[in-house]
Amino acid sequence: MDLLIRGSELFDGTGAPPKPGMDVAVKDGRIAAVDQNLAVTAARSIDASGLALMPGIIDSHTHFDAQITWDPSVRPSPALGVSTVVIGNCGFTIAPCRAKDRDLVMRNLTQVEGMSMDAMKAGIDWSFESFPQYLGMLQKRGVVPNVACFLGHSSIRTFAMGADATTRAANSGEIAAMAKIVKDGMTAGAVGFATSTAPQHNGWGGQPMPSRLADDTELRALVKAMASSGRGIFMLTKGNVTDVPYLESIAAETGRPIMIAALLHNPTNPDGTFKDLRQIAAARTRGRELWGQVSCCPLTMDFTLQSPYPVEGFDAWQPLMKLGPDDLRRRLADRNFRQAVRDELARPAGVRLFNGEWDKIEVT
Ligand SMILES: [Zn+2]
Repeated sequence: MDLLIRGSELFDGTGAPPKPGMDVAVKDGRIAAVDQNLAVTAARSIDASGLALMPGIIDSHTHFDAQITWDPSVRPSPALGVSTVVIGNCGFTIAPCRAKDRDLVMRNLTQVEGMSMDAMKAGIDWSFESFPQYLGMLQKRGVVPNVACFLGHSSIRTFAMGADATTRAANSGEIAAMAKIVKDGMTAGAVGFATSTAPQHNGWGGQPMPSRLADDTELRALVKAMASSGRGIFMLTKGNVTDVPYLESIAAETGRPIMIAALLHNPTNPDGTFKDLRQIAAARTRGRELWGQVSCCPLTMDFTLQSPYPVEGFDAWQPLMKLGPDDLRRRLADRNFRQAVRDELARPAGVRLFNGEWDKIEVT
């Protein structure tokens, strides 16, 4: 054997109770034997008594696309047991990107993912332009966990349309250019194509993230471009504007699996996520491979009033998202603005990130 891990408390990853005092033997990169007191010798042996052993966690929803260019170990994930990360989720990534669009792309990530502009400016290695060059760069530099990378719709849109990506639908020439990027990206090794139609996904100055401007023609064209490779997952964060039957129609048309995020329980719409999951289950009985991405713990957010993600979907908040700190402070104190937010909260909404649950907000 190449490796013998002795005497651990073994979690096998099936959900079964852990077994104490287990040995695991590895040969040629694969588990060769699992038992108590294995009678084998190995080139390398690790005493794991008093420790737990488990399969690596696959983190299917990360946004390490920028960080991984300066931190190949994508801290803190490996220390938490993660051995595979999926990046490019929601279509928010940094590749492809032209030199002239770098600021635009970074500013969008500060808003939608709460990343520090200073950290990104100091850290991002921009020695790529295309998506295949980005993957090549990661491969050349090396990464600690396994990395699977989605093609990101918003980045592709910005690459094909420039600043117009956040303001309008694409024309047929632009859709063809995007489809080519998707095809080339699949050839280069992407695991699929990711997008977002969630209203709370806004970029710099409150402008919608580019993917939100895509119409049905564009979305179907790009998923088809992915499917033409014969593989790939279509991932989307759907928000409350896209429904499961629509996604089922795309799965039926392309024959590809669809990962639907982020199905988070919301107490003000207690059946919302369960309805989505029931529709997903029904679609699966019809042979469409739809997956609902749920979370094992409640979603929490750190935010500031300069970048208040939970309320950015509010109509009343839109004018504030373009303001600098001084103007913002004045508007936050404005009674009309405050009343407009209260009025909006009082109106029923489908699924809203924040629904006036003030008891859940902690000011620090
Ligand atoms: Zn995401």
